[in-house]
Amino acid sequence: MDAQHTTLLIIGGGPGGYVAAIRAAQLGIATTLVESDTLGGTCLNIGCIPSKALIHAADAYHQTRHFTGDSTLGIHVQSASIDVAQTVRWKDGIVARLTGGVSALLKKHGVKVVKGWARIVDGKTVDVTLAKPEAEPTRIQCEHLLLATGSVELGLPGMPFGGRVISSTQALSPASVPAKLVVVGAGYIGLELGIVYRKLGADVTVVEAQNSILPLYDDELVKPVAASLRRLGVQVHLGYKVQGINAAGDAVRVHDNAGRESELPADQVLVAIGRVPRTHGWGLEQLMLAMQGRALKVDDQCRTSMRNVWAIGDLTGEPMLAHRAMAQGEMVAEIIAGKRRHFAPNAIAAVCFTDPGSCHRWFVTQGMPRRPTWTAFRPTSPLPPTAAPRRPSPLMVSYAWWPGGQPLDCGLASSGRGRVRAEYGVFALAGGGATLEDVGGTIHAHPTLGEAVQEAALRALGHALHV
Ligand SMILES: Cc1cc2nc3c(=O)[nH]c(=O)nc-3n(C[C@H](O)[C@H](O)[C@H](O)COP(=O)(O)OP(=O)(O)OC[C@H]3O[C@@H](n4cnc5c(N)ncnc54)[C@H](O)[C@@H]3O)c2cc1C
Repeated sequence: MDAQHTTLLIIGGGPGGYVAAIRAAQLGIATTLVESDTLGGTCLNIGCIPSKALIHAADAYHQTRHFTGDSTLGIHVQSASIDVAQTVRWKDGIVARLTGGVSALLKKHGVKVVKGWARIVDGKTVDVTLAKPEAEPTRIQCEHLLLATGSVELGLPGMPFGGRVISSTQALSPASVPAKLVVVGAGYIGLELGIVYRKLGADVTVVEAQNSILPLYDDELVKPVAASLRRLGVQVHLGYKVQGINAAGDAVRVHDNAGRESELPADQVLVAIGRVPRTHGWGLEQLMLAMQGRALKVDDQCRTSMRNVWAIGDLTGEPMLAHRAMAQGEMVAEIIAGKRRHFAPNAIAAVCFTDPGSCHRWFVTQGMPRRPTWTAFRPTSPLPPTAAPRRPSPLMVSYAWWPGGQPLDCGLASSGRGRVRAEYGVFALAGGGATLEDVGGTIHAHPTLGEAVQEAALRALGHALHV
């Protein structure tokens, strides 16, 4: 067996692992990264980037179809059609450019990338079965081991992936658009992809076991998303439990909240009920590390319960977001390089790219009160016009605050380009630790969503100024 030695060994080349590797190399740490698949992880290959690319294409098609009818803007097109195979090729091209960029960056910084499947032997030793079939396995020894293996899709018992039952990964590369799609799970992944398929022309039905769509988001923010689903013609069944596929294999059997059984016809079923940390199949159990539920337990420096074994990203549980994984990866590299760092943000923004986008600040600070006071604000003036003329521009800002004025939570639902600004507004609050007075005292370009973020803060303080 070939043997190598490095200072930092990273398992997993997703946003957590590759950012950690680049930062470590920048700081002069000898770094090896093991990745079994294409660099970039879930985010670049089968997550954030391809989903947002399809959302963009589906939206463009949907808007073009508007112009085949009456148009207040005076724009008319004869007809609109979409070549889904070409759309998928375009999306794959974006993914390839970005994953190629990650590979180039790692190379530029001198990170050694090993393509293969890593298996832990002990806290300082990892065996890698190389991707090349004829190659000998490699043993790599290290001083620091960083675990960044990400997460995997959760399936439904009795309804394994395969055939008509697909996961988000297959949904991101459709060969064609099914006539009828049932989406199980009304979290952000189910809704983002459900809306994509609806805009591409499928009849979409969403089934959710809980009594709300986007159950982790603030009720007020979810209302415009629910209204938009209705306008788009997406059927939503809340409080429904999926029982399995019917005998003919062409419908999903469900129980409503009164226990009545019915069938929802489906050419395809997208199961999007969540993701779980990838803790199996790579020898993690050898280390007997402390766990927190299904995730690996880490402290505010991403240290596990074993010295010099670190973990970041989805493997460490919620919130499973690319920017969190990246921030943790950068921090771990800096700590190993001798810097004093902690990962303890007040909050982490999460953007849901539905229609309209819903932005929600995630509570991460321990010991915060569970019942803060909320204010919600919906401006009456038409803020940034959306490209689709018949679509109103729904906007909702909400805050939760604690006496003293420090916002605990800021949420924003907006459409179109506002999504980006929504994230900005929440980020400004979350990262900067701003008070309501600070946000109320900001000055924003007009007309932008920043004004609404400011106005909601003023309302929370009791001195509303604008409409
Ligand atoms: C459809 C979808 C849409 C999403 N949209 C967003 C979004 O808009 N915004 C956002 O912030 N997040 C989004 N996410 C979540 C985001 O993709 C993840 O939070 C992020 O990728 C986690 O990064 P990570 O580095 O922890 O793990 P991953 O990206 O999962 O990377 C882990 C890597 O480790 C490799 N690996 C695992 N085990 C081994 C082993 N034993 N040996 C070698 N390699 C191994 C895997 O092949 C993988 O490449 C989305 C996810 C999905 C599924």
